Amino acid sequence: MGVEYKREQPLKNYSSEYYFTLIYFIYRNYTTYKISLSNKLRIIIKVVKSLFLKINFFLYLSIILMGCSEKEDSSSETTNSTYPSNTNTCVTYESENYTCFEKLDTIGSPEYYLIPPTNDFVLIVSNETYSLWTADVSSGDTGFYKDKLRLANNLYTIFEDNFDFLIAVNQHDYESNLNLSARAGYSGINSSVRNIVSGIGLSIYNNTSSYGSSGRLGSFIHMPAHYLVSNGPMLHEIMHQWGNFFFEYDSAHWGVSGVGGGQLGGFEPSTLMTSDNLTSGDYALSTGNYRAASSKYTSSFGTFANGGNSIPYSNFEKWLMGLIPASDVPNFKIPITSGDTYSTRGTDGLFTADSIAEISLTDILSNPSNYYNDTIPKEYRISSTSKIGPRDPDYSTSRKNFRALFVLITNDTLMKKYQGSTKTLDSFQSTIANFSLNSGVNSSTVIEKKWQPVPSGSEVEILGAGTEDSPYKEYLRIPDGNYNFWEATGGLATLQTDDLSGSFKSVLNSRFMSKGDHSRRINIETKKRSHNIVNDPFDDILFFNPF
Ligand SMILES: [Zn+2]
Repeated sequence: MGVEYKREQPLKNYSSEYYFTLIYFIYRNYTTYKISLSNKLRIIIKVVKSLFLKINFFLYLSIILMGCSEKEDSSSETTNSTYPSNTNTCVTYESENYTCFEKLDTIGSPEYYLIPPTNDFVLIVSNETYSLWTADVSSGDTGFYKDKLRLANNLYTIFEDNFDFLIAVNQHDYESNLNLSARAGYSGINSSVRNIVSGIGLSIYNNTSSYGSSGRLGSFIHMPAHYLVSNGPMLHEIMHQWGNFFFEYDSAHWGVSGVGGGQLGGFEPSTLMTSDNLTSGDYALSTGNYRAASSKYTSSFGTFANGGNSIPYSNFEKWLMGLIPASDVPNFKIPITSGDTYSTRGTDGLFTADSIAEISLTDILSNPSNYYNDTIPKEYRISSTSKIGPRDPDYSTSRKNFRALFVLITNDTLMKKYQGSTKTLDSFQSTIANFSLNSGVNSSTVIEKKWQPVPSGSEVEILGAGTEDSPYKEYLRIPDGNYNFWEATGGLATLQTDDLSGSFKSVLNSRFMSKGDHSRRINIETKKRSHNIVNDPFDDILFFNPF
């Protein structure tokens, strides 16, 4: 695998044109991705969620998609505040019903690995470790870059090699309110540990031993603030285990590409509108102009992402993940522009192109050499002939039941703060529980109707009174505006997070402080893994097709 190392200038001056900034690493035999989400957007998301969760959903989406010209001002940020030293021991924590393992942090002080009675995540309690993982990357390497191997190896002294994903998350301190995404330089990062899948554009490689895994660990993921699990980019970072390595064009995300509106951006091909079928009104198109959207409900799309966890995996992404056959992936619609330039996306899903090529995934897979030469338009030239082909293992034998070990990096002060509020550990635990639930919570929401047709089964709604200055707007109701992992895969895959004590090293089996009420098991395996994809707006073949 080629060696490429690229590190963005992090934090305060990242591009304001796009909220998501790609940082792409290939370092030795593993690959790391991260995206940045600005402070501004995060604040807006918080406001939108708390005040206008449903009605203003379109704002959230359109802000992501349209960008904003405002610059960041992080100058008011202070350094990571110091927390009182921790005088607890495992005896104290065990009296609080935690299962406790004591290790040493990077300066040789006690570091506690706690498993709460819910048995579905690990708290790593250490002032030093918390400080390292929430440090400002502009001042030097943070925990992700210099401490993840130590953390992982410590975890594998406690746990068997039963996890596909290690997901480290920093607890956010609402009092100091540091912008942890800005300090980290990303809102999520995936360090790929091994690849066992051929056909998707990746070499086969295995770095698991340096993490302490014996071969199963796929990715080490870091989310700099705990609320990013529920809002995204949690689904996005998981997707980086499998993509995008397929096309030469954008080796991380889908860009202005109709491979399906998914977690890595791109647009849903069936939404594409041309000057032939969008002929009147504010959004009318002239020749060479097009509009497309991330789904049949929306009116725009992102080149890196499509609104965090608000959108499921596309069918192409599901193929990459090993969940569906290639024949289930709709033909791609790829904008083609002559010369060296690529289409760029404007507002409301607008882009220009010389033409649109319709490409079949199954054809690429059966004749990869036909898609890897200089006569092939750069927009759909594949990354390699030898690494692209039928997926092996294919969807019939690939893993569908994934396991994640969620690790909350915190300290004793912080883990006990905010009792009685929604900012507690309980809240984080329910976030994990919801993310890994094998059923959907269909959080219906609305999005402003612009140029997109009204999909069958949906209706136009008028919300609010409307005034002369702020006239009536029309909205479409989206059946689901927040996807957990199971929902995002259309019920085809599960992500187990609970029953951690069942993965204790056998010599530690007796250690679990089994005192809590375990009636609320969150990850009972479901049998619903048929091909009847649920909650997937892309599956409606009756959706209009402009071609
Ligand atoms: Zn990404």
